[in-house]
Amino acid sequence: MTSTSIVRDLSLPGDTILINGEWSDAGVGERFDVGDPSTGEVIGQAVAGGGQAAKAAIAAAASAFPQWSATTAYERSDLLYRAHALMIERSESLARLMTLEQGKPIRASRTEVKYAADFLIWFAEEAKRMYGRTIPSARADQRFVVMHQPVGVVGAITPWNYPISMITRKVGPALAAGCTVVLKPAAQTPLCAVAVFDILQQAGAPAGVINLVTANQAGPIGDEFLANPDVRKLTFTGSTRVGKLLARGAADQMKRVSMELGGHAPFIVFDDATPEHAARGAAMVKLLNTGQACISPNRIYVHASIKDRFVEAMKNRISGMKVGNGFIDGVAVGPLIDEAARERMEQQVSDAVDKGAKVVTGGSRLVDDEHANGYFFAPTVLTDVTADMDIYRQETFGPLAPIVEFEDEVDVIRMANDTTYGLASYVYTNNLSRAWRVAEALKFGMVGINDINPTSAAAPFGGVKESGLGREGASEGLLEYLDLKLVGLSV
Ligand code: NAP
Repeated sequence: MTSTSIVRDLSLPGDTILINGEWSDAGVGERFDVGDPSTGEVIGQAVAGGGQAAKAAIAAAASAFPQWSATTAYERSDLLYRAHALMIERSESLARLMTLEQGKPIRASRTEVKYAADFLIWFAEEAKRMYGRTIPSARADQRFVVMHQPVGVVGAITPWNYPISMITRKVGPALAAGCTVVLKPAAQTPLCAVAVFDILQQAGAPAGVINLVTANQAGPIGDEFLANPDVRKLTFTGSTRVGKLLARGAADQMKRVSMELGGHAPFIVFDDATPEHAARGAAMVKLLNTGQACISPNRIYVHASIKDRFVEAMKNRISGMKVGNGFIDGVAVGPLIDEAARERMEQQVSDAVDKGAKVVTGGSRLVDDEHANGYFFAPTVLTDVTADMDIYRQETFGPLAPIVEFEDEVDVIRMANDTTYGLASYVYTNNLSRAWRVAEALKFGMVGINDINPTSAAAPFGGVKESGLGREGASEGLLEYLDLKLVGLSV
């Protein structure tokens, strides 16, 4: 199947800006190329929207808000059910588009489309459970009621690494709550965003309720989201650097913010765990999306007594994983998103090696015929990693697995918590008391105990410290789009 036929298969609109129910170029005129990271080939184009397009989209969302927020929860739920059904119907075409545009292996794309659709159905159901509260008063003639109301217009910004599920995880609860939305997707993956918005529109989203502005210069759109008083909530998934910039900007008008930011996950393997079993888990989660996941392990702590067995098992697992174009059968690891990402891998490896780390497998870019035109990097295991290395502190976002030895439970908890990040963390142990103790002591928003995937549309996803604010998914995910109002009534 060619790239043109994959894009054609979904019959996507040629113009990639959606404002007030109309696909157009919003008078921008300028477009940018969208590439395939496995081949370097151009697969399509998107409109290079800017501040003016964002302004028009916000105006459309603001004028649609009174009517949309007045619909019943059941009507909003129905829209999300219909969008879910359409996403499932189109899931194979969406998965192919994702592999083409973002690079992940086709099986992983299928899994992501299912995960993305899960948010639509979860929030279709949660829409009907937007319960308030009554509170007893100390005064006999007084009643208190707490009600929930939609925040208003939501400005949403999403990354390229999970280009469909990161959208439904925001737009699903926003629509369920009665908010209207303007979304700016990542420059690398605008076509996946167009495909999602096409589904929402065909599911019956009224004009102005959902708006999409594609762009290759994010700044002006972010600035408009911050400056425009009609935007009452900013929801962002991406780097901690940009998240801080946006949260700072949002403070001027005290806009509500949800920030899903970077991570630096510790993966702790105790001596009572089976090293081969733990290595299997570590290899799988490390190479998920070629390491380009916010929950990817960045420091793998292994007890000294089982380190050799663990390293050997990791080496065998990782070196056995086929790297290549995600459409090829048996490929488990795709390319990195771009050349800058590949250079970051090289810098982290060379910094670590200069400071004493050993490369057990991998360590360099892949440039042979099969990999010549894509951004491929060999899955890499490093041992003897120490706290002075860049890889120990900076988010890697690639297929590097740094292993650090430890002796003592208290020490390893201290080392694991020694980071400004606080998103995901993992513990492998067969000791129940230890599992509980360590889970309580880890300063992270999520802990997987002998579990590499503590995520689901039904579970609250998010971090503490510089990994962010707020939660996505679960019942908490809906609250992010609702203001609380207290009504006191004298009877
Ligand atoms: P990024 O550079 O922060 O970009 C994320 C989004 O922000 C993109 O749409 C980007 O647009 C936009 N952006 C960049 N500068 C902006 C500005 N000044 N104003 C407004 N928007 C701006 O992050 P990334 O490198 O693409 O994504 C990877 C990061 O996302 C990692 O740190 C990862 O851990 C994090 N992430 C977190 C979660 C989570 O749930 N916690 C999930 C997935 C990823 P352009 O594409 O046009 O630059």
